[in-house]
Amino acid sequence: MAATVIDGKQVAQQIRDALKKEVAQLQQKYGITPGLAAVLVGENPASKVYVNMKAKACEETGIYSQKIHLPADTPQEKLIELIHNLNADTRIHGILVQLPLPDHLDQHKVLQEVSPNKDVDGFHPINLGKLLSAKFWEELPLFVPCTPAGCIKLIESTGTQIEGKHAVVVGRSVIVGKPVAMLLLAKQATVTIAHSRTKNLKEVCRQADILVVAAGRPKLVTADMIKPGAVVIDVGVNRVGEKQLVGDVDFEAAKEVAGFITPVPGGVGPMTIAMLLKNTVESAKRTVGA
Ligand code: NAD
Repeated sequence: MAATVIDGKQVAQQIRDALKKEVAQLQQKYGITPGLAAVLVGENPASKVYVNMKAKACEETGIYSQKIHLPADTPQEKLIELIHNLNADTRIHGILVQLPLPDHLDQHKVLQEVSPNKDVDGFHPINLGKLLSAKFWEELPLFVPCTPAGCIKLIESTGTQIEGKHAVVVGRSVIVGKPVAMLLLAKQATVTIAHSRTKNLKEVCRQADILVVAAGRPKLVTADMIKPGAVVIDVGVNRVGEKQLVGDVDFEAAKEVAGFITPVPGGVGPMTIAMLLKNTVESAKRTVGA
């Protein structure tokens, strides 16, 4: 039987609708408007698209958004000074620095300068450290990275109980692979992380009740690597040719084997933005004790 396709757009829209109501209530009851600052350095076309999408999503939700576009040759001290100003700006509850940064900037150093209390991307070492030390879901930091958090929401939207399941994550990046593995662990799954040096990827993937793929390799996961009935979350976004976007999973063949599967586009992508909005609203709520 063909898999149920998980509609990420729909799940994300439900979250955004609920947030819109919450934002209106925050304004009414506490007189505050959640605010997000998005910092873009340089002219990376994909980054420009992402920042614009995030700003538009803020506007639709009633969140105040500030887009700050700096030239590609911005010195690191200038960028850090800007981040410090945003840390101190009471209109701003969330700061995101769009990645990747131009080569002359030290990404690690720059991300460390974002206040952990406004780190809506969840990339500050303090928040990543708290994610690592959380044994249970309730102990997670306020901010966890958005794409991994979105993956968990999508798995749960299928009604699948994560606890006790074998989850395999393909990819070990700090942005997706590692945090998604930590979140699955906090949900009490048994977690295997596979990566570019993993031997027998096919056998490893075939053990997965839940398979999350974040490798950035088109069609890396084929139908014969999927356990029948598994939940397959495809994080990959790969540009093929001029316009086509494909994931890391061979969707057409995989959907004949999986139980649930996300499409690309329209799966994980919309969830990343929804979770960013959620983190921003949660941050604003915290400032008024709501
Ligand atoms: P990355 O390049 O930092 O990491 C890729 C990981 O995949 C590495 O850990 C590597 O070991 C592993 N890998 C690569 N080739 C492999 C192979 N042949 N077999 C097994 N593992 C392999 O990438 P990333 O930042 O984690 O992003 C991964 C993908 O997810 C990309 O396509 C990216 O565009 C996409 N992405 C999507 C969203 C979204 O919102 N939809 C957000 C972030 C990233």
